[in-house]
Amino acid sequence: MESYYHWAVQKGITRRDFLKFCTMMAGMLGLEATAIPRIANALETKPRLPVIYLNLQECTCCCESLIRSSHPLFSDFILNMISLDYMETLQAAAGEQAEAARKKVMNEHYGNYVLVVEGSATLGEGGIYCTIGGVTANELLQECAAGAAAVIAYGSCATNACIQGAHPNPTQAVPIRRIVKDKPVIDVPGCPPIAEVITGTIVHYITFGTIPELTSLGRPKAFYSKRVHDGCTRRAFFDAGQFVEQFDDEGAKKGWCLYKVGCKGPVAYNACAVTEWNDGVSFPVKSGHPCMACSENNWYDSSTPFYTHLAEIPNDVIGKNPDQIGLAALGIAGAGVIVHGAVTSAVRGRSNKDGSDSEKDTR
Ligand code: SF4
Ligand code: SF4
Repeated sequence: MESYYHWAVQKGITRRDFLKFCTMMAGMLGLEATAIPRIANALETKPRLPVIYLNLQECTCCCESLIRSSHPLFSDFILNMISLDYMETLQAAAGEQAEAARKKVMNEHYGNYVLVVEGSATLGEGGIYCTIGGVTANELLQECAAGAAAVIAYGSCATNACIQGAHPNPTQAVPIRRIVKDKPVIDVPGCPPIAEVITGTIVHYITFGTIPELTSLGRPKAFYSKRVHDGCTRRAFFDAGQFVEQFDDEGAKKGWCLYKVGCKGPVAYNACAVTEWNDGVSFPVKSGHPCMACSENNWYDSSTPFYTHLAEIPNDVIGKNPDQIGLAALGIAGAGVIVHGAVTSAVRGRSNKDGSDSEKDTR
């Protein structure tokens, strides 16, 4: 089987671009410069890793994110790593032909392929809410996971059941790790996730033969150990107490902090503010929309109403109350804010009945 580098050369990618890619991967994974030749060597010499990609209960926005990664190598790199004989969204084959191709890849590479799963599993009514090729999503998942070296749960549906897992969760949607218990599961949350994270995770596996270091919630540490708030381009305004109060006010025009119009960046552990999207063009907060903390467990229940701010900032990061700062500046009463806080508290209580916050594993 050809190596990644051979494939890249055939695609017309120059040696310079290839090394640039290796350097970027090392940087994103938080590795030292000495890792760059190791990554390059692995991609030059190791055969391409067999990857099977399942689409379970979801909307395919994660696929959209993946194929729209604008760096010349990222999306091609991923798509050429995947056995396109079986990726339901993109494969040309259908029906029995597609299922036969999947089984062939699994048999030939048993114990060595990586399984990427997009979408949640579902337990309601014996799993009938999502069936593929005549079997339930759970059965398909268990069959494919049995021969996998590792499983990547890609996107918030796969890592926390996302919107379909929100109250009252009629299909009993559950994260992949609730079904796959005897394999390493790497969670790559986000709605959708940043494409570069899955590329980095796979490059790490190819280079070192191990999964990257994970957080306590099972996410690659290099991408999920800091909050959006920590790298946010609007952070100076937060610290200065300058907040957008409405989307069309002067503060909005000046690019002030979006906390009061619903930004959940202070509780969102994701790399959006650092990696950004579309080859580093922007990310939601930079473009003027509050972060919804889509990478966090129970995020849909915890973050709604979307344009209502958090009841509190965990760990009291600035040591002062943004509501009071804004109110003092505006000279208005706090009733509305108190109502907002109460609503958010009630909503958070709905999803996290044990009182845990969104950084804790509530699955
Ligand atoms: S609250 Fe949101 S907009 Fe404000 S600094 Fe934090 S992440 Fe940025
Ligand atoms: S900025 Fe927030 S809501 Fe947007 S993708 Fe990143 S974590 Fe998700």
